[in-house]
Amino acid sequence: MKYKNCRVTFNLKEFELRNIFKISRGSKDKITTLELKIAKNQNVGRGEYVPYKRYNDSLQKIIKFLRKNKNISNLKTVESLALRNALSNAYYDLELKRNKINYSKILKYKKKFNTAITIPIYTEKKFISELKKFRNIRYLKIKLNENKVFNYLDLVKKHSPKSKIIIDANEGWSIKFLKDNERMLKKYNILFIEQPVKSSKDHNIKTKLPLCADESFHLKNDKQKIKKIYQWVNIKPDKFGCESDILKSIQYAKKNKLKIFLGCMVSSSLSIIPSLKYTKYCNVLDLDGPLFLKKDYKNGLKYKNGYLIYNKKFNYGF
Ligand SMILES: [Mg+2]
Repeated sequence: MKYKNCRVTFNLKEFELRNIFKISRGSKDKITTLELKIAKNQNVGRGEYVPYKRYNDSLQKIIKFLRKNKNISNLKTVESLALRNALSNAYYDLELKRNKINYSKILKYKKKFNTAITIPIYTEKKFISELKKFRNIRYLKIKLNENKVFNYLDLVKKHSPKSKIIIDANEGWSIKFLKDNERMLKKYNILFIEQPVKSSKDHNIKTKLPLCADESFHLKNDKQKIKKIYQWVNIKPDKFGCESDILKSIQYAKKNKLKIFLGCMVSSSLSIIPSLKYTKYCNVLDLDGPLFLKKDYKNGLKYKNGYLIYNKKFNYGF
């Protein structure tokens, strides 16, 4: 392996959030991540690990693993896919630096990318004030449980009528709820509903509403059912791990005529910037993770009117 004898080190990073980030299965007011560093000669490649609780990741477990395994030469021996992704991103950065390649060149000098912007579960008052900030952006993603769904949809219709709506239920709806509300949901400008029901129950879905698989679309899940139920897939690098597996998931989607929504976690620019290299394969981006942080890394992404703006001064690549 070309990374033999490269030491992996890490720093613990804590990022406070601007607001409480609430979705159907839980909420948080800060994120704790690891800034991973892989060094070879004078060059240091960086990546960010964000614990993915939904898939039983924990920071303690990962720290223990990294303390024990200081040289990781085979990514497939790393169980956590989010850690695999972080290491893969750090390796990629290291390679760019060693070969003196600017990351801007990889992005074909594109700086501005359209992205969906997420509004987590808020009170209606707070929701309205957020809607006013993002009025009429192209794609607005709203996190919802089963409560007051139509109140929130009416608010979007009123305050941001031109936005295409993405509902993300994070497995929080029942099959019955989806069925009972299908007719009403069709009246709104909805692009798709992301993961309405539990990943283990989705084979029972019968609906004409456009759906996107997130929790159901994962490296370790059976992919056969996906194309029968969903028209979209949310590809988050943290669910697929290394670059080759992310590219395979993209190929799978293309082959099966599934549209690609490129996703992320609540994370800093150090997670999102490496993902930008996949944007050319994707239909809609969902790369707003750093928008929720009070303070991001230096020269991090900026967000404006539904676009993210990449600053080539960010420390990634040569
Ligand atoms: Mg989701």
